[in-house]
Amino acid sequence: MDKQSEAVFRSMEEHNVRFIRLWFSDVLGSLKSVAIAPGEVEGALAEGVGFDGSAIEGFARVLESDMVAHPDPSTFQILPWRNENGIATARMFCDIRMRDGSPSFADPRYVLKRAMDTAADAGFTFYVHPEIEFFLLKQLQPPVPLDSGGYFDHTMLGEGTDFRREAITTLEEMGIAVEFSHHEGAPGQHEIDLRYADALTMADNIMTFRVVVRELAISRGINATFMPKPFTQFPGSGMHSHLSLFEGDTNAFYDAADEYHLSRTARHFIAGLLRHAPEITAVTNQWVNSYKRLAAGDEAPAYVSWGRANRSALIRVPQWTPGKTSSARIEYRALDSGANPYLGYAVLLRAGLKGIEEEYPLPQEAEELVYNLSARERRAIGIEELPRNLDGALRIMENSELVADTLGEHVFDHFLRNKYAEFDDYRRQTSQWEIDRHITVM
Ligand code: GLU
Ligand code: MG
Ligand code: MG
Repeated sequence: MDKQSEAVFRSMEEHNVRFIRLWFSDVLGSLKSVAIAPGEVEGALAEGVGFDGSAIEGFARVLESDMVAHPDPSTFQILPWRNENGIATARMFCDIRMRDGSPSFADPRYVLKRAMDTAADAGFTFYVHPEIEFFLLKQLQPPVPLDSGGYFDHTMLGEGTDFRREAITTLEEMGIAVEFSHHEGAPGQHEIDLRYADALTMADNIMTFRVVVRELAISRGINATFMPKPFTQFPGSGMHSHLSLFEGDTNAFYDAADEYHLSRTARHFIAGLLRHAPEITAVTNQWVNSYKRLAAGDEAPAYVSWGRANRSALIRVPQWTPGKTSSARIEYRALDSGANPYLGYAVLLRAGLKGIEEEYPLPQEAEELVYNLSARERRAIGIEELPRNLDGALRIMENSELVADTLGEHVFDHFLRNKYAEFDDYRRQTSQWEIDRHITVM
């Protein structure tokens, strides 16, 4: 037995773990979970646990629905909120394989692993740190924010501050380091930023983060939502992500000699993200509702541009911390809190790598607030728009070789089918906005 598996058994005994949840993600980023008994763990680690893939969103392919979940022992963690009367519950993330042992074509974790392998072939490891925004609600239908705070406001106990404290403590007990947290701009809106990690670890961390925040909310009789834009009148929930590539211990984005401290590698990476941004947006912003956030302006991007202080830009190059070369990074601001983090980080990585491979030139920095320009002025300086709705995003994605290659044929086809169906359902709805606007005047 390998060292990691031995550590699993030691921890199970030490903490009296009686339930082990095996976690994986479906194509849309919903967490799937099956609990096994301690006696099953040895077999699960050796041979995996079989399940019917056709019951999982995006996993079905008619004659090959038998799949096997292989727990990754390095992801073993106790669930701190599930420790009752000395009986503990733990979780492990799984890789999904086919009966013959080959990786499942439908497993989002495998999609990201493949993209990480492409980066490794070029000598890079991809690191990310997300700023995760979400709402705490005292009522779901219609949604009512828990508090009336605003950006960086201090709120009273019980109004979110001690919620964040408990969430952070729980995450840290699970080995997920938190860097920063504060009240966000909208009532009931909060942000927690995770400390950077390689993208695969981080995607697992984000899946865990959503469970922790939801579970803690429910235990307090409130609700949490990662929906990108729950309120028309308030800003939405983004998941701005800070990205960098490392070559061993060296930050490949840093160059002391450059005026922005950006290396050629970083410049080509940004150029790759900018060039491919429209075609990857269906993945980074996968819901009908995602586009309500992008349309709102505020600090969510709507145009394809980059800048340093410019918070309307799709990509921001944050101020470099002197002396800290590891902190050289870029911030991609389109991604929202409803994204599948495995697929989202896979397409961002591949778009950036493409820029490096093809040595795309970096377009000019957008100085003015892009929002204040007219459509003509924007076109004149070559600034494209992000897709305006899910349908538009899918139509661009459909023709993208980059996205097809990154997701693999099966996930690519399934994603398009599922998302076109979502849009079709949506476009048949008469909304409250239309009623309010037309019912008395037509
Ligand atoms: N909530 C904003 C968004 O949707 C971001 C606010 C911020 O700059 O952190 O992207
Ligand atoms: Mg924020
Ligand atoms: Mg940000």
